[in-house]
Amino acid sequence: MLFIIDFDGTVAPADTVDALLEKFADPDWLRIEREWVEGRINSRQCMAAQLALISAGELTLRTFLESVMIDPAFAEFVRYVSPFADLAIVSDGLDYPIVHAMHKAGLSVPVYANRTEFRECGVGLSFPFSRPSCAVNSGVCKCSVAQTVDAGRGLTSVLIGDGRSDQCVAHQADFVFAKGSLITYCRDNGIPYTPFQSFADVLAAIRAWPVVPQPRAKEPQCPLVVA
Ligand SMILES: [Mg+2]
Repeated sequence: MLFIIDFDGTVAPADTVDALLEKFADPDWLRIEREWVEGRINSRQCMAAQLALISAGELTLRTFLESVMIDPAFAEFVRYVSPFADLAIVSDGLDYPIVHAMHKAGLSVPVYANRTEFRECGVGLSFPFSRPSCAVNSGVCKCSVAQTVDAGRGLTSVLIGDGRSDQCVAHQADFVFAKGSLITYCRDNGIPYTPFQSFADVLAAIRAWPVVPQPRAKEPQCPLVVA
């Protein structure tokens, strides 16, 4: 089993990039946001243009991004599913706050997100997980990351997400936990989903699954060789 987990609005109840823009960017970021919502620019163009409007020093920005709060039940969720599932946080936001939040929570969950680049008086980003074939031109092609992490194993995939960046991969996932606008999208597109508000809800739903997934077979331990 493979959990593909969104970050902004999902693991972190607030949207990190929006919070950053609200605090440090020229208000013109809202006009750019509207262009993206209306489909006139893609998410890469949107984020690059918005982040260019930020004016603050590196230390200030790092401190802000390190203060991102995560869902209080996320750590328990990770501990519960880890024995029988692989997990990946796949976000079309910035990687720095995610990596920092996982480190702070003592969790080692692989992170696939846009690379944060601190600059002299602001912040930029690059797109190591974008793909020319991406149907929605995202910064991070969640469909391709899901495929890479699966690595041909044909794992049952579970998406946990809340927004526009989760729409494409929702079509491919075997099971979807949805909140926010992803609920409307799943409803409109006939994608079965389970609604959730927090990871406490996700955990409760997984614990109630009629078939409890069995832990994967562990590599046999090599016998201790005594010289
Ligand atoms: Mg989100």
